Amino acid sequence: MKKDTIYDLVVIGNGIAAQIFLWNLFEDIKCQDFSVAQISDEKLAPACTLRSSATVSLNGISEDVSPLGNDMRAAYYLFEKFVEEHHPDGVIKVDRHVISTNENDENKLIRRYKKVEQINSPFFNMSHRGVIYPSYLINNDFYHSWLQRHSSKSVDSFNLFIKNIKKNDEGFFECESSCQQVVKAKKVLLATGAYAKIFNGFFYDLTGIDKESKNEIKAGTYLEKEIVLPFNSFYLSIDSYNILYKSNILQIGSTSVLGAFSSAPLVECNEILKHCQKYVSFDLGEIAEYQKITGLRHKAPKRMIECSESLVTPGLFHFNGLYKNGFSMSFLGAKKILNLL
Ligand SMILES: Cc1cc2nc3c(=O)[nH]c(=O)nc-3n(C[C@H](O)[C@H](O)[C@H](O)COP(=O)(O)OP(=O)(O)OC[C@H]3O[C@@H](n4cnc5c(N)ncnc54)[C@H](O)[C@@H]3O)c2cc1C
Repeated sequence: MKKDTIYDLVVIGNGIAAQIFLWNLFEDIKCQDFSVAQISDEKLAPACTLRSSATVSLNGISEDVSPLGNDMRAAYYLFEKFVEEHHPDGVIKVDRHVISTNENDENKLIRRYKKVEQINSPFFNMSHRGVIYPSYLINNDFYHSWLQRHSSKSVDSFNLFIKNIKKNDEGFFECESSCQQVVKAKKVLLATGAYAKIFNGFFYDLTGIDKESKNEIKAGTYLEKEIVLPFNSFYLSIDSYNILYKSNILQIGSTSVLGAFSSAPLVECNEILKHCQKYVSFDLGEIAEYQKITGLRHKAPKRMIECSESLVTPGLFHFNGLYKNGFSMSFLGAKKILNLL
């Protein structure tokens, strides 16, 4: 970077929000000449995107039940279209098997999917009531690297942690890093995931009720180990728990806990493991064989994604609030941000 470079746009973040936004930006003919810098710091602010179960499902969500449900449906179809057109690395289409093992969970399934059927599958040790429908498993590393390879041709990347953003006298943004390096731009997009709070001061709603208190950081944890099983890949859901198998990686979970400094207690992870073992046809092993993976997510009010321009500092945008469905909702958010830029 030359000392006086002023980018058209700085994107802070290198998770799924930033990557899907960059994909859409450079697909858009109008934005082909944009000069873009991308800043992130995997050591100080590890991306949740690489610590995620990373599945995409329609989950039986019907149209017009809630604004969030409508967004989730729209996002699912955008993701599906993208996969069908571009065949990104790391995405596997599978039949998700969802079973319930008690009356309460079966009633939940019926409410969501309208009807359940008897499922006889080699994954389970006996026949169960449930549903089967197409879904996607994502190998986070392969998928993220594929996206990064595409965007890296068009962006200057910086490995920095931004601690301060301000507008200078000439009206340009100065993003100052913890090692005092400054990256200047005409516009800034924050795609900062769970670290969104650092810059939330730019997004106070000065006209309405303060939403700050409803923003949460939630840690999500799952168990992971490498194992060779006699199946290619699968996505099983037993009551509210998932067992995923992708590229010889077995993942079981997940559980959530409020706050950035806590992760699920091992005892809870062990209970999930034991519960799942009762119903599958193969050996899951012991908890000691698993790594415990925790990712930090930003949960915004009503679980909606946040895509807006700062009222107090025009030119500064945020794309946050990707919570449980980040791998599909990122497509919807990216479109919203592109319309605002
Ligand atoms: C256990 C678990 C299971 C999940 N399962 C699923 C699932 O099955 N399906 C699904 O769709 N979603 C799932 N999610 C949610 C999904 O992973 C997240 O919604 C998504 O990864 C969030 O992406 P993001 O880009 O917003 O944030 P992140 O991936 O966290 O990226 C944030 C980026 O911002 C950078 N950054 C932040 N602050 C700064 C700063 N000040 N300076 C420089 N860089 C900064 C970070 O370095 C990072 O690159 C799961 C999450 C967890 C934890």
